[in-house]
Amino acid sequence: MKILVLNAGSSSHKSCLFDLTQSSAASLAPEPVWRAALDWTHAAGQVELTAQNQAGESIKEALPMTDKAEGLAAMLNTLVQGPTQVLGDLSEIAVVGHRVVHGGRDYMDSVRIDGQVKAAIRRLIPLAPAHNPANLQGIEAMEQILGNLPQVAVFDTAFHARMPEAASTYPGPYHWVEQGIRRYGFHGISHQYVAQRAAHLVGQDLAQLKILTCHLGNGCSLAAVKDGMGVDTTMGFTPLDGLMMGSRSGSVDPGILIHLIRQEGYSADQLDELLNKQSGLKGISGLSNDMRLVVEAMEQGHPQAKLAIDLFIHRLRREMGGLIASLGGLDVLVFTAGIGENSPLVWRRACAGFEFLGLQLNAEDLKRAKEDQDIAAPNSAVRVLVIHTQEEWAIAQACVTLLQPVA
Ligand code: AMP
Repeated sequence: MKILVLNAGSSSHKSCLFDLTQSSAASLAPEPVWRAALDWTHAAGQVELTAQNQAGESIKEALPMTDKAEGLAAMLNTLVQGPTQVLGDLSEIAVVGHRVVHGGRDYMDSVRIDGQVKAAIRRLIPLAPAHNPANLQGIEAMEQILGNLPQVAVFDTAFHARMPEAASTYPGPYHWVEQGIRRYGFHGISHQYVAQRAAHLVGQDLAQLKILTCHLGNGCSLAAVKDGMGVDTTMGFTPLDGLMMGSRSGSVDPGILIHLIRQEGYSADQLDELLNKQSGLKGISGLSNDMRLVVEAMEQGHPQAKLAIDLFIHRLRREMGGLIASLGGLDVLVFTAGIGENSPLVWRRACAGFEFLGLQLNAEDLKRAKEDQDIAAPNSAVRVLVIHTQEEWAIAQACVTLLQPVA
């Protein structure tokens, strides 16, 4: 079975093809046989297309186009033509899986896309104005290019949709509940994948474990996973809530926003820019949203970089503590995404202070690794796992599940 996965954003498209006839161990993510991306920020009036296949052939070219559907058609063309060709014909694709950012309260699981699902994604645009329009456009472009092929929506909010009311409700006026102003949570595809993988790695049933998953990338969020379900998370109504991130502030006193509006005349767009693009590691360090560069500057004695890292860790540990309280204990702690998979400094500093839970990191020099790894000491009461997130593979797996005939 050949499964195309598409992550359609407003400024980029990323796609890959899995060939399940080639895959071996079901619990391990296979390598896609083809990957491609479109970068719409490359230059005015142009899109940069990159593609590579499993054989190591690749292309990179700037195409004179601004129409997203046209760009996607060019991208899919690299599956069937040129050096990166891996298919004889696009009709070999059995299903397309889409990452869709917002599924609202309606979607607690992945779903086969039909007119009703598209209408729901459209209806939810006000809740995810930067993402759902691009996701919908990607679905419609695939319909145009590939015809009447099964398509599946895998929602980033779905894993959190069964959170208890006390975790999902904001303590504003009650009519917020009816308006849909609630904690939705994001990164759900990643949190769900790493929680399942963690259960597999520790050899226990997911439903029996209390797991805290830390997705620390450019965007950062935590999820508390109990009885196999997401029971609490740090991102909220939008992906701006919770932890300090690359360029996002995370939670701040809402009174600050009222102050800025009243005293400095800030508009909604200015606040959006400030909180989403000019805050977090970038805002405090004054240097970059890239953790590697901020750590490097800290090591060279840059005081703002040091404050940015101290703050990142402080906020992280504080939210970890909150979610451990929601879980009522902790069996497994998972680090994933760019920072979570690669930063021994963050592992050490995030875990410091949780020794009272019986958590102990391995005394040996902790190093990033290509494989998923357990970095806890053998006698630690909490396993600490570093797991490479595989969102694309999780989307492909959802496609397989939904396409299976009902027994
Ligand atoms: P992601 O959004 O998952 O691609 O993660 C991006 C973040 O991961 C950026 O802040 C990078 O600086 C960070 N990152 C990537 N590699 C490393 C590394 N070796 N050490 C620390 N942070 C890293």
